[in-house]
Amino acid sequence: METSVTLERALALASTLNIPRQTETTPISQLNGRILAHPLSSKVDDPAFDNSAMDGWAVRAEDCREETTLEVIGTSRAGGKEPPKVSTGQACRIMTGAPMPGGADAIVMVEDSAEEGNHVKILGPARPGYIRKQGENLQEGQEILPAGTLIGPAETSLIATMGHHQAETISRPVIAVISTGDELVQPGTDLSPGQIYESNSYGIASLVEKMGAMAKRYDVVHDNIEGLRKTLDDAANSCDAILTSGGVSMGEWDLVRRLMEEEGEPLFWKVLIRPGGPPLCGSWKGTPLFGLPGNPVSSYVVFISLVAPWLAGCMGSDHELGPRLADRVRVRLTEDIKGAPKKICMRRIRIEAGEDGLVATTHTHQGSGNIHSMVAHNGLTILPPDTDGKADQIIEALWIR
Ligand code: AMP
Ligand code: MG
Repeated sequence: METSVTLERALALASTLNIPRQTETTPISQLNGRILAHPLSSKVDDPAFDNSAMDGWAVRAEDCREETTLEVIGTSRAGGKEPPKVSTGQACRIMTGAPMPGGADAIVMVEDSAEEGNHVKILGPARPGYIRKQGENLQEGQEILPAGTLIGPAETSLIATMGHHQAETISRPVIAVISTGDELVQPGTDLSPGQIYESNSYGIASLVEKMGAMAKRYDVVHDNIEGLRKTLDDAANSCDAILTSGGVSMGEWDLVRRLMEEEGEPLFWKVLIRPGGPPLCGSWKGTPLFGLPGNPVSSYVVFISLVAPWLAGCMGSDHELGPRLADRVRVRLTEDIKGAPKKICMRRIRIEAGEDGLVATTHTHQGSGNIHSMVAHNGLTILPPDTDGKADQIIEALWIR
């Protein structure tokens, strides 16, 4: 087992652990948030036929070089029957999205016309640019979405436009989320002296779900080896990976670390980041396991910086930091921020748009036990080891969504 590794080394070691990737056919109504397993090509041209971008008149441009009056020969409406052909001196009423009648090569907007009985006076320009050409957006057979695409609302709409009612996606892995600690009790019950509410499993399960995987939350495991072993065995049998929280520090009751060292296959323990120093990673009976620190901010930060990129890779996502969790940005500091000796320092910052770029401010107490700091802020500094941030300096940061 390696100890006190850099984040880069931790990610490299973690990438040797894998979740076997499976795919499944997913109906379009359930594609939002899923990852595309194979590239998708369009089944059709988009637009499927030349049509009008405006309500108005389909005309022959050469008839409309100057003010003129044209004979109205019919109507083209979206979903209507085939419109009549337009000959010299004629116009066909046309609605947005309706097919261009044969013979017409331009559109006059309704605002640039005056209807008089079965004639129309043309008062403005006839514009070829108001015709949406067949295939100008997508062509039949063209590969549009690559494998690994995270499907969101726009992608879902595009997939329907391409004529697909379903798509092959990466199956959502099931991730066990296990909290450990004798002091933890369920929110909604009364606290006895020395007890606190268990919060990590809810936050971590939400992060797992936000990544597009499925979380299986376990009841709190108390600090005894037999109970922990039993729960890990169950998780290894029924889940694709295991996330624990708590019990990975140096203390006598840090049983996740002890059990992994004695009976598991640990890869590394401790990563040179702050907060979140003591994570442990390896596998339990062949199932990847990340032992996250118990402090709520630490477990969150370790999830974002270590688990999310690993899980995104396992799921074949094309997004480096894991779908929808965070973006790497550059921000201007408004105050001095202390770095950490030998460790990447991830202080909580609030990122906002300033006059010339993003600016970062700090608000609450930064302690790794203060989960409110993750709510009062929306970002993390990425200060390199042994480096303080100075007011007005531009630094790298993670913008958490
Ligand atoms: P540990 O690593 O188990 O020593 O935990 C470090 C700190 O995090 C302690 O103050 C714990 O009470 C707290 N902690 C551990 N697990 C949780 C949890 N699931 N929810 C909230 N706080 C926790
Ligand atoms: Mg504990």
